[in-house]
Amino acid sequence: MTERFATVALPLPLASSYTYRIPETLGDRVAPGARVVVPVRRRELIGIVIEADAPPPEAEARDILAAPDDEPAVPEGLLATARWIAGYYGAPLGLTLKAMLPGGLWGESQVTAVRVPGRWNIGGFAGEVLDWLEERGEKAAVAAIARGMRRPVWDALHRLASVGAVALEVVPPDTGAGTATERVVTLQGEPPTLIERTTLFKRRARRRELYEALESLGGSAQVRHVVDQLGFGEALIKGLVDQGLARIALAERVRDPFADTPGTPPPSTLTDAQTEALRAVESLGAGESALLFGVTGSGKTLVYLEAVRRALARGKGAIVLVPEIGLTPQTVSRLRGAFGDEVAVLHSALSDGERADAWRLLRRGERKVAVGARSAVFAPVRDLGIIVVDEEHETSYKNGESPRYQTRDVAAVRARIEGASLVLGSATPSLETMAATADRVRLLRLPERVGARPMPPVEILDLRTAPKVAGTGALPWSVALDAAIVDTRSRGEQALLLLNRRGYASFLQCPACGEVWQCPRCTISLTVHRAPAALRCHYCGHEESLPSTCRVCANPVQQMRGVGTQQLEQVLAERYPQARVARMDLDTTSTKWSHQRILGTVERGEVDLLIGTQMIAKGLDFPNVTLVGVVDADTGLYLPDFRSAERTFQLLAQVAGRAGRGPKGGRVIVQTRHPEHHALLAAARHDAEGFLREERELRRTPPYPPELHLVNLIVSGENEAETANQAAEVADWCHALVARRELSVTVLGPAPCPLAKIKDRWRWHVLLKGASPVLGGIVRYAARRLPRMGQTRVVIDRDPASLL
Ligand code: ADP
Ligand code: ZN
Repeated sequence: MTERFATVALPLPLASSYTYRIPETLGDRVAPGARVVVPVRRRELIGIVIEADAPPPEAEARDILAAPDDEPAVPEGLLATARWIAGYYGAPLGLTLKAMLPGGLWGESQVTAVRVPGRWNIGGFAGEVLDWLEERGEKAAVAAIARGMRRPVWDALHRLASVGAVALEVVPPDTGAGTATERVVTLQGEPPTLIERTTLFKRRARRRELYEALESLGGSAQVRHVVDQLGFGEALIKGLVDQGLARIALAERVRDPFADTPGTPPPSTLTDAQTEALRAVESLGAGESALLFGVTGSGKTLVYLEAVRRALARGKGAIVLVPEIGLTPQTVSRLRGAFGDEVAVLHSALSDGERADAWRLLRRGERKVAVGARSAVFAPVRDLGIIVVDEEHETSYKNGESPRYQTRDVAAVRARIEGASLVLGSATPSLETMAATADRVRLLRLPERVGARPMPPVEILDLRTAPKVAGTGALPWSVALDAAIVDTRSRGEQALLLLNRRGYASFLQCPACGEVWQCPRCTISLTVHRAPAALRCHYCGHEESLPSTCRVCANPVQQMRGVGTQQLEQVLAERYPQARVARMDLDTTSTKWSHQRILGTVERGEVDLLIGTQMIAKGLDFPNVTLVGVVDADTGLYLPDFRSAERTFQLLAQVAGRAGRGPKGGRVIVQTRHPEHHALLAAARHDAEGFLREERELRRTPPYPPELHLVNLIVSGENEAETANQAAEVADWCHALVARRELSVTVLGPAPCPLAKIKDRWRWHVLLKGASPVLGGIVRYAARRLPRMGQTRVVIDRDPASLL
């Protein structure tokens, strides 16, 4: 009998896979893509089988302990996609697989042995284990059995499993499955006013936070969620109950949180432009892709829906990717409207158990359509027919940690591997995708809004010269924007106001000595927050109390600079006391369903003015919004990053596209101090194509993507000098490699990153510029050599989304 071995990828930052022996009893269950439980030092971890016919290792191999799935958890196509990601981005294969599978299927394992009912005639130690199980209620964790029997039990369990006397189940860490009811905390009574709150929650800031968190969740939430995910203790909840502000009740557990989401039925007939685009999508061959370049409001969603419908009709499955699922409830509801229970929504706010459930349904083919943000590109949809990437230009498609993949590129690779087609959609395509339309990507256009509705006129207001309203403090508030709001309100219509800066003010400065309050852990100024009042770092979360005097010169007066959304909200509340104002930014949407709740109030007309950060710019379709105001268009214009103009254009074009989507029309007002900037001018003309052309020229000298590709090597460490030294070494290493192999690659740096320190770690970088295949060679080499040098860390960011 020959022994068999398998290589297994572990969810650890290890460059290589490990080899284990396959016990005979596990037989065919150990196949590529299968989850297995393996010993790692003194622990048991879940790993994924990469190869089931590996050559025997040189050293002695330990045994695979269990193989819990009847069918490999990772299907073939996904395994191949994982290999591509690991190779292309220089990421460990195990970490890549970890990012693919829901946490519930992966985490640290707990294997449970369950005795299968029946009379078993098994002798020896295995028989004793079976008896032991029967006495203990048929079921126990393997570790507990080993403790109870005082010796290793895996061999015995394998034998029992092979004759069907026990089943080995891997219990995901979370679950909560099986509980039929759950405790729910619900607010009661009239919501107190702001002044009442001050008294009610005097010296009880946390209790107020809890109250307001519940409020933002629509007034109730599962106790488990409040404790586990929001981090409020049971005692705080009890406090609210004792105060009579909330009550606790038992409610039925919801398995599919979207089961009750009403679906929006799609329009019944396609426009000519939509029909033509759909026909082109239909004609894509296996692995081919198209860009659906359609102005805002041109009806791209309906083209996606119909393309998905056709795929389903052919017996295929589909994946629809959206930038941030919380921000796109309308897309989700349109999908549900069209496909009902065929749709699995992979929402970031799902619990591990819910996510694992959705994953299994897709894997078994019981759901055919997956919709979600970037990680949904890994949804185990069977017979994949089409992948749609909506708003393909969005930065959130780039994963911020290892593996640092770009979702749309992964989607293209997966589509090619599985013979699916790929549709990228945007009103403001990325320069990369636009460049690819020259060869690999078919360009499809929807040049007009549905119903030939005009694009809203955009007015650029020069803040340096425009008359301003007095008494609005530091807020740049022009008479024109003010008048437009009054006008909109008088007609009972709604307005969106974009200010891409959250908090109250962007920093605090002493007017006497000029001191600016900075984060002690990051080289970035602290943002001023009100309600609750604090100075907060937007990078690391550091928080300190708002000082009343300068820490340097003791001067009592503080000056706030740079207006944020909280201040905007306050000014609006004072200026239009009758208006119903809602604010949407990271601070008001920290809890599970808060986006949906806020957008729901806008949709139902319960809000007159919606203010917010870039969150309000995306994908919303509210016909009663007739005014969009951009309070300060310059917030991202001069960031030291090659994409700052592109981002600004996209943001402005997207938010402008929110206006005038209904028959009432609309208008847009953009306040700026740089009215001649090409990004602003193009956005005002609704001229994405013109912008792309101009920006493409600017990316030629000095060259930036899509002229060539980039790899950013980021060196970080706690010691400033050591980090700089290591960065110099990394640069030397690159220079030597490039010279030795005569590669056509430019090595820039080392230089400090624009954000020179984050969370106590100093950051330096070395930038490589060149053609993709050459850079690929360097990445593969660097992934083995660079990650750990002394106390510093080297991150390899291929095709970076930003250089900050
Ligand atoms: P986009 O995603 O391109 O910005 P949407 O898909 O949101 O545009 O469509 C804009 C609006 O036009 C939506 O309200 C949608 O319901 C409507 N619409 C789209 N296609 C049609 C159609 N064929 N007939 C009628 N209305 C349509
Ligand atoms: Zn910080």
